[in-house]
Amino acid sequence: MESDLIAWLRERLPPHESLRLGIGDDAAVVQIGAGTACVVTVDVVSDQVDFHLDRTDPRRVGHKALAASLSDLAAMASRPRSAVVALALPRRGGLELAKQLYEGMIPLAERYGFGIAGGDTHSWDAPLLISVTAIGDVTGRGPLVRGGGQPGDQILVTGTLGGSILGKHLDFEPRVREALLLHERYDLHAAIDLSDGLAIDLARVADESGCGAVIQLASVPISEAAASLASAKQNGRSALDHALGDGEDFELLLAVPPHAARQMLADQPLEVPLTRIGELIGQPGLWQMLPDGQRRELGRAGFEHTFLP
Ligand SMILES: [Mg+2]
Repeated sequence: MESDLIAWLRERLPPHESLRLGIGDDAAVVQIGAGTACVVTVDVVSDQVDFHLDRTDPRRVGHKALAASLSDLAAMASRPRSAVVALALPRRGGLELAKQLYEGMIPLAERYGFGIAGGDTHSWDAPLLISVTAIGDVTGRGPLVRGGGQPGDQILVTGTLGGSILGKHLDFEPRVREALLLHERYDLHAAIDLSDGLAIDLARVADESGCGAVIQLASVPISEAAASLASAKQNGRSALDHALGDGEDFELLLAVPPHAARQMLADQPLEVPLTRIGELIGQPGLWQMLPDGQRRELGRAGFEHTFLP
């Protein structure tokens, strides 16, 4: 499992003075000069795993590859400054494909005001693979991290969740502006972008913060796509199951002290809704709040890359 590799790397990678924040968050924070730091993240997407090139416009694939890295910058409340792109292209049609992928990325760079510095290109007899490294600055309020939560913090999410496979997983807008606005205006303790599923990603924030988390399931904002997948009854999963377990919503999950949460929910300062779904608690683990006030343990549904021996 990917989490086993991360655990090994945490032990094995030597510490270095340049790493203000190393492995284990949405991005690293790297010291690049006296008093200057940047936020760095790298993502890989590939054909047949993250998209199906035979039935997807390559511009949407390019958009997704870059937007996924921008979403990790957003989770750190970092403003994108530049990106570099590595492409491993199938030999046949590779040049035209590469141009189309870039055509999908360039509008994001224009919209969020950063530069794409090109990158490296490789051709092979294998499916398309794209790796994007995104670099952002650290705003005056510092980076947001997963581990800053405290018991009593309220859990808020942007947007609606689940069912991204119906299209949002390709066409999502990374919550860059939303993260910067919220971080500037309110007292936020911790954040993550919902890339692997609400339950698993909330558990990551809770674990890193040394807390547990409890969710009010009735409060989880369910997307129309999750509802329509559930009504199609292909796999017996409810809309709530989709909202809890589906990956690639690319919304923000925030841990916020109660006074700030009250203000944010009253202000609703974003174009997408902000919804309170639960809170961090002292008791470790991931829990659901039952109507009678009892807690029941909740599974950590979500997506994780796995390996064979
Ligand atoms: Mg992330």
